[in-house]
Amino acid sequence: LSDRLTSTFKNLRTKGRLSEADIDATVREIRRALLDADVAVPVVRSFAAAVRERALSSEVSGALNPAQQVVKIVNDELVTILGGQNRPLTLAKNPPTVIMLAGLQGAGKTTLAGKLALHLKGQGHTPLLVAADLQRPNAVTQLQVVGERAGVPVFAPHPGNQGHDDVLPSGADPVAVSREGLATARAKQHDVVIVDTAGRLGVDAELMAQAGRIRDAVDPDEVLFVIDAMIGQDAVATAQAFADGVGFTGVVLSKLDGDARGGAALSVASVTGRPILFASTGEKLTDFEVFHPDRMASRILDMGDVLTLIEQAEKAFDAEQAEKMAGKLASGEDFTLADFLVQMQQLRNMGSIKKMFGMLPGMGQMREALDNFDEREVDRIEAIIRSMTPAERETPKIINGSRRSRIALGSGTTATDVNQLLDRFDGAQKMMKQMARTGGVPGMGNLPG
Ligand code: GDP
Ligand code: MG
Repeated sequence: LSDRLTSTFKNLRTKGRLSEADIDATVREIRRALLDADVAVPVVRSFAAAVRERALSSEVSGALNPAQQVVKIVNDELVTILGGQNRPLTLAKNPPTVIMLAGLQGAGKTTLAGKLALHLKGQGHTPLLVAADLQRPNAVTQLQVVGERAGVPVFAPHPGNQGHDDVLPSGADPVAVSREGLATARAKQHDVVIVDTAGRLGVDAELMAQAGRIRDAVDPDEVLFVIDAMIGQDAVATAQAFADGVGFTGVVLSKLDGDARGGAALSVASVTGRPILFASTGEKLTDFEVFHPDRMASRILDMGDVLTLIEQAEKAFDAEQAEKMAGKLASGEDFTLADFLVQMQQLRNMGSIKKMFGMLPGMGQMREALDNFDEREVDRIEAIIRSMTPAERETPKIINGSRRSRIALGSGTTATDVNQLLDRFDGAQKMMKQMARTGGVPGMGNLPG
């Protein structure tokens, strides 16, 4: 996904503003990229249409290049569909809060039950796990193992029979077990009950009916639909079947540690309109996260925190000034010390320079170099340039020994500091000229170059 989008954006970044042709070409690529990420076809279609409409009607922002504007629109749209902000778990006014898990076999329900129990325990709750999957051999044992690891008690039909519960007593009924589990939680004052249910390999009527009966028996505050993030195009049909068959209040995406780019997240959220509450990211109980729509959007776009960077750029940049400077460079005019000063100030406005580079993807080496960067250096540079006359700023060559002493004195630095700055400026000037020729640093917007 990222490669494709990156090259699309590269094509855009040399152009001045968003034209309809640009937008259509980009939207086409975004559509293809999302399909590659296994976002369901109808979802991709409506998403692309929404992005196109917004791009066409958007104001051209002076601080962003066209590529960044499209990324921003795509990102905003993704975040909106994914629910905007994290939706926390709904807790019952009168405990216990009842959470029922539903989903296909292998989706990750039992694993999630343990993770969620551990998470809630960490917040001071006293969860009880209820083993209402009596379908699969060893399902009860699996939940007991998970419960033990999490340090959370498990209510199961036959507590003594670990290891051979593949032969369940004929009377064991998941609905009755759920009801008894809830009663036990009330009696023992557990404030949360997590009901683990059975799944099938595919959507089937009997499974849905059983889940429906469990739901009716325990009247849950939350029904969480657990879905494997790697499910691909089946996400929509599966989510729809559970939405119609059982009804759910929220979604948990599991196996997000795999190659899944999160296409399923977009599909499920878009088709069912239900929020994604949590993400499961591995086999360990601690591989569990509260779901953040904005981070998921970045993951789908695979662009690091580029968007944060863009927002900062939007805030800090005087677009006109940037444009003027870009024009100056493009026309081959010299980059002067005065320009250098303006640039330094703009960089400083963007917050910590180090942080900024840290947010760009693929900047590992740069990051290392910047670890040695001292922001006080910018103060020193600014002081030195301010102590120069306009003529000296335009033509640093004229700075001789006596001018250098005057500048050092005026800026509270030494002649060596002044020399160092002039050397560095010389280097920057050469780099600027080169960047003007080659099209600049990717992702740096309208910074000169
Ligand atoms: P259930 O049938 O819905 O209860 O699914 P399980 O909880 O039994 O999980 C099925 C398999 O997926 C097990 O082997 C789990 O260890 C594995 N699994 C569950 N969640 C995750 C996850 O987030 N990441 C990875 N890598 N594996 C997971
Ligand atoms: Mg299970």
